[in-house]
Amino acid sequence: MLKRLSLAIVLACVAASVPARGEESMSAASLYGEPEVMQFKDGKPAAFSMQFDDSTLTQAKFAIPEMNKRGLVGTFFINPDSSRYQANKETWEVICPKFGHELANHTMKHTGAKDYEEADHEIGACAHLIWKLYPNESKLRPFLRGGGTTWNVSREEMQELRDKYFLFSGFAGPRRVGICDERGTGPIKAYAKAALDEGKWGQVGFHGVGGDWISTSEENFIELLDYLVANRDKIWVATTGDAYRYWQEYEAVREVTLSQATESGFKVAIECDEEKVKTYGRPFTELYDEALTVRVRVPDSWSRFAVTQGDEEKAYEAVAVEGKPYAQFDLRPNIGPATVTLSAE
Ligand SMILES: [Zn+2]
Repeated sequence: MLKRLSLAIVLACVAASVPARGEESMSAASLYGEPEVMQFKDGKPAAFSMQFDDSTLTQAKFAIPEMNKRGLVGTFFINPDSSRYQANKETWEVICPKFGHELANHTMKHTGAKDYEEADHEIGACAHLIWKLYPNESKLRPFLRGGGTTWNVSREEMQELRDKYFLFSGFAGPRRVGICDERGTGPIKAYAKAALDEGKWGQVGFHGVGGDWISTSEENFIELLDYLVANRDKIWVATTGDAYRYWQEYEAVREVTLSQATESGFKVAIECDEEKVKTYGRPFTELYDEALTVRVRVPDSWSRFAVTQGDEEKAYEAVAVEGKPYAQFDLRPNIGPATVTLSAE
């Protein structure tokens, strides 16, 4: 489950090849363990995503406020030209970005398209609206064309449009369970528990929550949210986009290197193989900007430390794993090394 990379060996060889300073380098290098890239954010053992289709009224009136109260985020597949969306425009365009929810492309009207031009508008206008609402976020977004819709375009044309607007399938991650009480999908928290038990990324999809269509009850939904809050330390509740970008980068990790080790810190960098992800003809770091969590064993004396990468600096506390101290922190791949520095007490 962890990506183990044999860095200690490299460091040991470097130290051995420089006899004059060998002893000093050797002892500094041996202060730290091999850096590990964790499978999920913050080293949590599982991830879980909630998707919501069609910008329904019950999502705006019930699901979103209940999630906000608990600090939980979801992915909302919106139809900006529908009356449902227009009736709660502030929820979608102000509240969702503010509370960290993701808006995803479900086309302007959820009606398919009679030709290529209309398809380009249905998908493209939705993409542009979402990009405008999240000016500082990756343009790589999930896409679902809408159940029961007819698209009078070829498969190649559809793919061309998805590529043009940096879209990946909303079904690309783990199998999404479409929640519907009437169809017997049962207690929703069971799907989150299964993700945790299996150490995986789980995903469910909603339409109505306490009304509308393909619905679940308010009670069933709240039970899920409370389960996620109770297991916050173990389950990374992520938008589909964040979880997808993390997953793609994690799978593409080629190496993680720790260097320039001294008693007060070290440098560390992650290199991803850019060939392993779909970059849509853009530089890797433009669409894949999710920080990966790295964990490094540090000396017992470590408590607070700071990580600087580019012009970003973040403060952390060492975490205990099986009684031993580790530096655990966010690191963006392919933008050069971060400097990890022990803070003065
Ligand atoms: Zn839909």
